[in-house]
Amino acid sequence: MIYLDYNATSPVRPDVRQRMAAFLEGNFGNPSSLHAAGRQARAAVEAVRAQILAALGDPTGQLIFTSGGTEADNLALKGIARALRSKGNHLMVSSVEHHAVLHAAEALVKEGFRVTVIPVDRYGTVDLQALEKEVTPQTVLISVMHANNEVGTIQSVEEISRMARERGILFHTDAVQSFGKIDVNVRRLGADLASISSHKLGGPKGAGALYLRQGIRVQSILHGGPHEHGFRAGTENAPGIVGMGAAADLSLAEKAGGVLQRVERLRDRLQAGLFEKIPEIELNGHPTHRLPGTLNVSLKDCHGETLLMALDLAGTCVSTGSACSSGSTEPSHVLVAMGLPAARIEGSIRFSLGWGTTEVEIEEVLQKVPPIVERIRKGQRHWEERSGEAISSLKSRLPRPPSADSQ
Ligand code: PLP
Repeated sequence: MIYLDYNATSPVRPDVRQRMAAFLEGNFGNPSSLHAAGRQARAAVEAVRAQILAALGDPTGQLIFTSGGTEADNLALKGIARALRSKGNHLMVSSVEHHAVLHAAEALVKEGFRVTVIPVDRYGTVDLQALEKEVTPQTVLISVMHANNEVGTIQSVEEISRMARERGILFHTDAVQSFGKIDVNVRRLGADLASISSHKLGGPKGAGALYLRQGIRVQSILHGGPHEHGFRAGTENAPGIVGMGAAADLSLAEKAGGVLQRVERLRDRLQAGLFEKIPEIELNGHPTHRLPGTLNVSLKDCHGETLLMALDLAGTCVSTGSACSSGSTEPSHVLVAMGLPAARIEGSIRFSLGWGTTEVEIEEVLQKVPPIVERIRKGQRHWEERSGEAISSLKSRLPRPPSADSQ
């Protein structure tokens, strides 16, 4: 199998598995217990907390462990909105945020908050002027993701956070896709809050974290014990946290060792090869301000889902932006927000590469994709022609409607 869906999730790294297995062998304690078993688990959790804060560039910050990126985003939006309700009731999010942010914002609207959704341009970049125009004295939080999961576009987070800080507004960034892939230094980015997730880094699923600048308070969205300094009730997922720490360690070491430049070269090779071999193909997302491993393209007359399934049968895992739920496919809200026409959205497909991707795999994919696209296009065009003919023939056999003269 060739796995090119790293933005959806990444394989658990062998070293992470080993570190987690070694931890599980001897550590089953509850990090809140006062005895030796508990203290051992607590020490492991606190070591990862310090390590990730250092990796994020703010050792003095706070880190709340969560069940993943979705919970971190929910905690950021709901936790800040509810904590600052007396100060203001207005939040701003971009139109290309992950549903974890967009749906959390929708839930807040039902609680009486006002949310402004900021548009993006055709590359998926947030419109800074529109953002600035919509700020009000009631605005308490702006949430703009660092890098987009579908098209990989990287936002000008520094400029947005500067504008927010000048106006006394808190700034949250969803760094789930960027942490471990590009530089995520919260101080340089000017982020007051940032979400991360373990399974995008080669760690286990079900672990993530919300970073908070020192002194920032969120209202817990879970009710229970006083875990995580009262910000997140529930026994910490110590093995998951240990796995996330190991994955963060390895990703950052790889980043320093140039692995991501290799991933970017492979992505560029894939992009160049597809554009060379396939006519009527377009790039979605920013041509340069883009995550190193992400390639989202649209193919004329070739449904993304059909291509995904054909590639799956041929042993290659890719993805489309569409969310397939209860039998109906919703168009990608990201591509819609970028203003792409329906046909281009239907024909979109995402390849996302990671540390395990090899040159041999990319060359194999470049051999496989063009003939599959050609076959799908032939089938699709043939079907459209045939259905066109069938409709004309049916129309010609139907009794003619009475003309206006004969009435
Ligand atoms: N934010 C972004 C940008 C993502 O890509 C994802 C996952 O795809 C999430 C949040 C949700 O993270 P998790 O799967 O850890 O809940």
